[in-house]
Parts: sequence; structure tokens; C-alpha cells
Amino acid sequence: MGNSVLQKSPEEIKKMKEYYSKFLIDKLPPGSVFAAKTPSCAITAYKSGKVLFQGKDGETEAARWGTASAPAVKKKNVPGSHLPKNIGEISIIGSDEVGTGDYFGPITVVAAYVRRQDIPVLKELGVQDSKNLKDDKIIEIAKQLVTFLPHSLLTLHNEKYNQMQTKGMSQGKMKALLHNQAIHHVLEKIAPEKPEAILIDEFAKEQIYYAHLKGQKKIIKENVLFSTKAEGIHLGVAAASMIARYAFVRHFENLSKRAGFTIPKGAGAAVDKAAARLILDKGMDVLPEFVKLHFANTEKAKKIARV
Ligand code: MG
Repeated sequence: MGNSVLQKSPEEIKKMKEYYSKFLIDKLPPGSVFAAKTPSCAITAYKSGKVLFQGKDGETEAARWGTASAPAVKKKNVPGSHLPKNIGEISIIGSDEVGTGDYFGPITVVAAYVRRQDIPVLKELGVQDSKNLKDDKIIEIAKQLVTFLPHSLLTLHNEKYNQMQTKGMSQGKMKALLHNQAIHHVLEKIAPEKPEAILIDEFAKEQIYYAHLKGQKKIIKENVLFSTKAEGIHLGVAAASMIARYAFVRHFENLSKRAGFTIPKGAGAAVDKAAARLILDKGMDVLPEFVKLHFANTEKAKKIARV
């Protein structure tokens, strides 16, 4: 389902007009050669060669005439397309977080400073978007990163998380506070040196991010950039993400030790069962130290444990 655009020659457009002859409509939009309306798709061909397929069967109908060249993705939606062209090569503080979607375990936020001259070393070490790597590989690389990259690691344990959440603070606001603080720490560590930019893996639009920070004593704004999928844009964000993951996994190991069994990641059915087991073994009271209570998993776990 959806709209499609094709670029076609005048000959092809003529053929299309014949093909849709039964469905042609009289009222032509400005600049168009023909317009047709089938029961499930509106087709408009323009003098420029662009042919628009709109409606339920837009894509299917366009596919009849060749590959849909442009499922009309606007350029601004491509991650990082709004950033300076050389963004991947400059010295930045990258910032990312882990654990926000996991029922068990803390949120870990890391800001890390990667200078231009560190980039080849990071590549050599295998730093990349951690979504492509297994945890053991991430840990192996992150252990080296923490020895030489100026960074700040903040951990929001669930006990505190649950307190803040109960008071009405959104997870978005918690993340904004943590990112701002981690970046501030790194700026202090590297002063008087300054990064050329600060790149935050975007979890909220810039306006919302700063709305969350309203009232904070120190709000970092200078040269702060946001992008989705920022781990793929600068290795500084990838490095921050790997260190955050490393810390997260270590906390998980500790939690598993305390629970007496291996705790699963994520927020799926395995997690419900593990939480139920924890409730049965240790009682409801320990739950706030282990999990993000407001997740739907809590109710599911209680049902399984029959409490
Ligand atoms: Mg992220």
C-alpha cells in the first residue's frame, strides 16, 4: 500500500494513457499530460515525465510499469542527511544509551570523545554499529575503548528508575537528563579542548530534548547535533553505544547472580517467566530492584506467579 512515483519517457507515458483509456478523467491538474482513476488508484502523468500513482494500489500499479524509482522518501528522512557532510571525520563527543526497552536491567548512557586522529584506531579495533555485533565481540572491543577514550558512563538502576517513573517522569526525560549530564562530564574531562560537534543518537526531537532539560543548571547546547541511527554516522556514537552495552551486560550478569538464574534480555515472554520465577523465589519486594515496573511484563509475571 502507498504512493509511488516513476520517471517515464513521453513514449511510455503515451502507452500508459492508452492502457488507462477507460479510466481517464477530464479534469487535469496543472502541468499534467493525463490523469486516470481506477477503482483503487489515481494515476497522474506530468510533462516533466513524472508519473504519480496514488491510493491503495499505488505501488502495485506502478510496478506494472517498471521498478518504482522513488517510493517518495523525502531527503530529510535519511538519517544524518541534515548534518555537515564531513560529520564522520571530525572530532566529536558521541552519546548513546542502552537498556531502555529491556524489562530487566538498568539504563546505561555513555558519552565518549573521539578525535579525528582516533578514527583509524577505532576502525582497526572493529568499532561499528553494535547492532551488527554479538555481545562477546562488543565487550572485547569496549574493554579496550575504555582504556583510552575520554568518556562518561551513567547507570540508572531500576530502583531509582521506578521511583522517578512513579513520580511521573517519562523515560524520555530521564534519558535527556542522563545524556546531558554524561556529555557535560566529558566536556569537563577534555577541557580546554573542545569537540568540533556533539552527536546524540536521537531518541527525541531536538525541541523535546531541550524541553526535558528545562530548569537544569547546566544545559549543553553548543554544537549539539541529533540524528537517528547515529552509530552509523560517526564512530564516536558507535563507541559510546558499545561501552554502554558493555556496562549493561555486566549489570545483567550481576543481576543473574543475585537472582540465582540467568535473566533474559528484552521484554518478551521469556522475561515474563523469569520475573514470575523471581517473584516466587524471592517475593514481590525484590522486583523494583530488578525490573522496570511499569512495563506490561509486571502484570503478566504476576499472573504466571499467581500473586
Ligand atoms: Mg540509541
